[in-house]
Amino acid sequence: APLKINILTLFPETFPGPLGTSLAGKALSEGKWSLETVDIRTFARDKHRTVDDSPFGGGAGMVMRPDVVDAAIDAVWPRRGPLIYLTPRGKVLDQAMVRRYAAEPELTLLCGRYEGVDQRVLDAWDIEEVSIGDFILSGGEMATLVLLDAVIRLLPGVMGNSESGEDESFERGLLEYPLYTRPADWQGRVVPEVLLSGHHAKVAAWRRQQAEEITRQRRPDLWSGYAALKKNDFNKG
Ligand code: SAM
Repeated sequence: APLKINILTLFPETFPGPLGTSLAGKALSEGKWSLETVDIRTFARDKHRTVDDSPFGGGAGMVMRPDVVDAAIDAVWPRRGPLIYLTPRGKVLDQAMVRRYAAEPELTLLCGRYEGVDQRVLDAWDIEEVSIGDFILSGGEMATLVLLDAVIRLLPGVMGNSESGEDESFERGLLEYPLYTRPADWQGRVVPEVLLSGHHAKVAAWRRQQAEEITRQRRPDLWSGYAALKKNDFNKG
C-alpha cells in the first residue's frame, strides 16, 4: 500500500515543494505515496487566528499553543504509524531510522515555528522527537522535506535501480568509495587502473579498501562501530 504522509504546518504552501520534482515527484503522481497538509492556523479559535503566545517564565520569542496544536493533530492523526515532531532536541536522524519510517503505512510530521511547541502537547501525544542535525533552522518544514526525501527514495519502485540503494554510504556502516565515469582521462587525471580492468573481484576489493580508508579518516565514530562488527564476524569464522 502507498505511504500516506500527513504534515502539520503553519506554511502548507511549502509542500510538496522539491518533493514534487524528480523521482519523488514522479512517485507522487504515480500514487506510490500521498500527501495531506494541514494548516495549523485553521485550528486557532480567536478572530485573529492566534497560534502562539509568549513563554511562561519569560524570555525571547513565542511558543506554539498546546490547544491549537492538539486540535490540529487530533484532526489528522489516524494512530497508524509514528507521530513525529521535528526539533533540534530530537534523536538525530540516521539511515536506520529512515528505513524504519519507509516501512510504515503512514507518517505524521509536526513542523515547529518560533521557539517551538508547548511541552504539554508533546507529552500528551507521546510524540517522537527527531532532529536532522546539530544546527538551528527557522522552522520544521525544511527538516520535514529532508526526512521525507530520504524516506521516499526507499519506497518500493521509487529508485530506478533497486540495487543502487544497498551499495551506498551507511548501508554497510561505511562512507562511499570514490566514483568515476567517462572520460577515462580528464585533463590528465586518469581513472584508477583497477576500475578499467573488468575484474569484478578486484574492483570490489579496491572499493572496499577505499571506503574503509575514507571512513577511518573522516568519521572515527562510524569507523569504530564498523571495526567492532568486522572483528565480530571474523571471530565467528
Ligand atoms: N528554540 C529552539 C531550540 O533552541 O532548540 C529552536 C526553535 S527553531 C528556531 C524553530 C523550529 O524549527 C523548531 O520548533 C523545529 O520544528 C524546527 N527545527 C529547527 N532546527 C531543527 C533541526 N535541526 N532539526 C529538526 N527541526 C528543526
